[in-house]
Amino acid sequence: MNAQAVYDLHAHSIASDGSLRPAELVRRAAANGVSALALTDHDSTEGLAEAMAAAREVGIRLVPGVEISVTWKGRTVHIVGLNIDRGNKLLQEGLEGLREFRVRRAEAIAGQLDKAGIPGALAGAKHHAVGGLVSRTHFAHFLVENGHAKDVRRVFKHFLVKGKPGHVAGQWCSLADAVGWINAAGGQAVIAHPARYRLTRTKLLELIGDFRAAGGVAMEVVSGSHSRDECLTMAAHARSAGLLASAGSDFHGPENAYVELGRLRELPDGVTPVWADWQ
Ligand code: AMP
Ligand code: MN
Ligand code: MN
Ligand code: MN
Repeated sequence: MNAQAVYDLHAHSIASDGSLRPAELVRRAAANGVSALALTDHDSTEGLAEAMAAAREVGIRLVPGVEISVTWKGRTVHIVGLNIDRGNKLLQEGLEGLREFRVRRAEAIAGQLDKAGIPGALAGAKHHAVGGLVSRTHFAHFLVENGHAKDVRRVFKHFLVKGKPGHVAGQWCSLADAVGWINAAGGQAVIAHPARYRLTRTKLLELIGDFRAAGGVAMEVVSGSHSRDECLTMAAHARSAGLLASAGSDFHGPENAYVELGRLRELPDGVTPVWADWQ
């Protein structure tokens, strides 16, 4: 790949809470000049086959990925796996357990909303979850559609979060499990959007330490959801922790994007890209 290669290593399709089909996502990335796109759906690799076929057609590289939901010290943290073998049994069994938790959690969320005077949320969320995996994003779409909030962003202020109607505490997998499954599947584990967790510096260093101890190798220095300053801060952390640097838009669809696919800031100087030794 030449010097102008454009990497976007974090994006979603309808296999989780994105709004485009995997093939549509790939074609949009190609049209935007992306040369390597990672499809990283939440807790699922269902979209990868379609994405890889589409990528072959348009001549870009599709990096098989996943974004795993983790509970770390009582908080939800996301770990991206890049270049995973989606046929790996350990990985697939782990993801299946997370999806089973999603089914139970969706029922509990709907039960809570019902008690708060909002009936029909399970059917409503499932209607939006065309790929079958139910995310809070699908509940958000249902709540917006029914006039309970003006947009998805406002849903996550007034519903589905701690202390608000429809909140159900998550118990996802451990950090060591997520990194272990990714490594078992031959992939590279990446801390997703680290600035979004609003951790103190001490807590972030703890997360990085636990992640490295588990066998994690990279962090998203550039994310669609990071400000320029946050990118610089995360670059400094990656350098001093000896982690590789990744870059991803976290694109979920044209209507609610942090940034358009492939329209990312450059990696700051002094970090080693996660793709440095990719063939
Ligand atoms: P879940 O994994 O089902 O708990 O849902 C988490 C997803 O909700 C994230 O991956 C985001 O796509 C979405 N989300 C969380 N917080 C917000 C927010 N403040 N605004 C928009 N989307 C959000
Ligand atoms: Mn999401
Ligand atoms: Mn995430
Ligand atoms: Mn994501």
